[in-house]
Amino acid sequence: MRIGVLGGGQLGRMLALAGIPLGFEFRFRDRSPEAPARQTGELIVGDWEDEALLARFLDGLDVVTCEFENVPERLARHLADRVPVWPPPHALGTAQDRLIEKQFFFGLRIPGPVFRAVSSVADLAGALEEIGVPAVLKTRRLGYDGKGQFVLRSPDDVPRAWQAVAGAPSILEEFVPFDREVSLLAVRSAQGETAFYPLVQNRHAGGILRESRAPAPKCSPTMVRQAEDAGRRVLDELGYVGVLAIEFFVRDGQLLVNEMAPRVHNSGHWTIEGAATSQFENHVRAIAGMPLGSTAPIGESCMLNLIGELPDAAGVLRVPGAHWHAYGKPPRPGRKVGHVTVTAADREALAPRVEAVRAALGWPAGE
Ligand code: AMP
Repeated sequence: MRIGVLGGGQLGRMLALAGIPLGFEFRFRDRSPEAPARQTGELIVGDWEDEALLARFLDGLDVVTCEFENVPERLARHLADRVPVWPPPHALGTAQDRLIEKQFFFGLRIPGPVFRAVSSVADLAGALEEIGVPAVLKTRRLGYDGKGQFVLRSPDDVPRAWQAVAGAPSILEEFVPFDREVSLLAVRSAQGETAFYPLVQNRHAGGILRESRAPAPKCSPTMVRQAEDAGRRVLDELGYVGVLAIEFFVRDGQLLVNEMAPRVHNSGHWTIEGAATSQFENHVRAIAGMPLGSTAPIGESCMLNLIGELPDAAGVLRVPGAHWHAYGKPPRPGRKVGHVTVTAADREALAPRVEAVRAALGWPAGE
């Protein structure tokens, strides 16, 4: 079976690293000849709209998936006329527009921050009056890792905020003074079977994920049930096949949905060494029509993202339970170039290992 992947980033590369042992071959479509997935399958480079390249990409494929969420929905639909495309193109369309996405959650009665659609500076001023400060302005499209966002702390910020999003159609939402952020990795098979990994606790800095802890500490059974109920409704409503991530804020023990990603997710990288079946393998199994594997954690894990430049691996590799992942990307400020997952049998054993990895990376001691 040959799997086509739209996008050739590190997520695509890790999909292939999980799918090759199952007997699959991979072909990627990306605009960059340096795409990290190039080492794990055939890479077809060029513009998304190029029909000849598209035909080459499609030739002999059994199924198509994507590893980055801004795949043009039109392209996904075009492909879906020729070959099965999972996740379904409308799931991409829903996640690509923050307004449609928030309306979708609202329609499924999944609690989230109060929001308003904003398409002019006058709308923004009106919405801010209703929501109050602080509030967050986010572009509806093409925002990720905190890009295309502005926090308003006073009504005087309206002109600056509008300028920050370049007048693009946006949403304004209440600023959530959250206690912490968690994410749910959910997977649905072609037969409609669902499975959930334990909740993951995430720490962001500058809008970029820095660290994930799994399983997230201090999650009540009610919180887990609410997250899984939300996940199941989202997957079933979309007729989804594959892995999907949902990010939540936790405030006073309550979950508020932030956003979803219709793909394998950075907060699930720990599953490679820390779960019975990785998110990547389960995504491949799902889209290939195979049964899902166990999502049970193996002990405790902590994943640290390597951002900007790749540090020296040796110090990290000396720490027991530390697993080094380098994506083969040229360095650039703010770019995810690799990650380290630290695993241990229990929380007590994990803490000193994580501190040793932090020290090897030259990071300050953790909380
Ligand atoms: P997003 O791109 O929406 O996931 O936002 C990136 C990060 O910005 C989130 O993970 C939060 O840390 C922060 N953030 C986004 N929206 C809000 C909000 N309404 N209130 C507080 N922090 C937020």
